[in-house]
Amino acid sequence: MKNADICAEPHSDLLGVAEAVERLLADVEPVQGAERTPLKGAMGRILAEDILSPVDIPRHRISAMDGYAIRSSDIPAVGSTATLTVVGTSWAGRPFQERLEAGQCARIFTGAVVPEQPDTIVMQEQVDRRGNHIVIDADITPYDHIRHPGDDIKAGQRILEKGRQLDAADLGILASIGTVHVSVKPKVRVAFFSTGDELRPLGSALQPGELYESNRYTLHGLLQPLTVEPLDMGVIPDRQPELERAFAEASDISDVIITTGGVSVGDADLVKPTLEQMGRVNFWKIAMKPGKPLAYGTIGPCRFFGLPGNPVSVMVTFLEIVRPALMKMMGAQLKSPLRLQVPCQSRLKKAPGRQEFQRGLLARDQNGALSVTGCGAQDSHILSSMSRANCFIVLPPDCAGVEAGDSVEVEPFDVML
Ligand code: AMP
Ligand code: MG
Repeated sequence: MKNADICAEPHSDLLGVAEAVERLLADVEPVQGAERTPLKGAMGRILAEDILSPVDIPRHRISAMDGYAIRSSDIPAVGSTATLTVVGTSWAGRPFQERLEAGQCARIFTGAVVPEQPDTIVMQEQVDRRGNHIVIDADITPYDHIRHPGDDIKAGQRILEKGRQLDAADLGILASIGTVHVSVKPKVRVAFFSTGDELRPLGSALQPGELYESNRYTLHGLLQPLTVEPLDMGVIPDRQPELERAFAEASDISDVIITTGGVSVGDADLVKPTLEQMGRVNFWKIAMKPGKPLAYGTIGPCRFFGLPGNPVSVMVTFLEIVRPALMKMMGAQLKSPLRLQVPCQSRLKKAPGRQEFQRGLLARDQNGALSVTGCGAQDSHILSSMSRANCFIVLPPDCAGVEAGDSVEVEPFDVML
């Protein structure tokens, strides 16, 4: 069957995407241990411990407004006014610490601690200030504009869970409870390289038939938000001894190897036979388009993903197949990307058989309603379609095409509309 078009094989031989992911997840383990990092370095890392807050946030009763701290018992009856004496000021960071008697109030600013006796903040716009006095009327609502201890976070509360990928809000929360260092999972080491005799590194002169190697740059970008340790191993020609040497070197220094290209059934496709010789191999033909052939296996304890060479296939197989496995290895809680049902504005060609990840443009009309349009040519070498797209249109295996107006499932990338 060498040189046969594997795209023409019976679909019953193909493994479903969900099943492939399930098998992978069953085969990989989270990285062991933990390391401590200063807070800023924890962005995007995976939390290795549950975080309990040692304190209430806010810590004190705090004013939410610029105004006056008063006792609600001093609010006058409807139709009358009250005149209160201003006896001091509570600034943010400089509380007013004296006792306030009936008929007295304190000037107060946003973020300042509310003195003990007042229970209400009157906005400065609501008072008539006359020298050392303010005049208020009945329009004031008791207990307004005070933030209470523990409103946000209570002492002892578990605020962040082990396995969470830390985001900007989390860094802020950790700082607010006084965290200097945080315990995160060690970085998974991911070695990656391209294979192909036709590929040349950037900066070299191209001979006829050669092209600049681009998949490593795409992979670099795909790996970055995962905060793994990327190990770029360059370009390897389609020769078994060279592949063996590269695989051996990579497996010594990494937890995961990702290659692109050379994984199909052509005479120059040597990734799978090389992996077979050096370790254990599962060769899967996955019922997905693009990205059918995928070699998964191990060299020693190192996990190996041989992705197809076409640039769009690299991205689709990485995002749908490799990423979930990497997330588990990183020790992250497993989450799936958002998928939405939206109407499709364009006609989409599709043959029944494989699950397709077509490139789409999600857009919003004047009323805020979402819809998607196909990105034109969907071949697996059209990387510009991936660049234009802001979502995958995910078409199930049995779908035989989409008419304009049909509802389709989309998986948005990081989308700003
Ligand atoms: P292969 O899977 O090795 O048969 O490659 C499929 C197609 O993808 C061929 O047209 C290759 O030239 C192209 N390709 C493979 N690897 C890369 C790469 N790293 N950068 C750009 N194109 C590539
Ligand atoms: Mg090749």
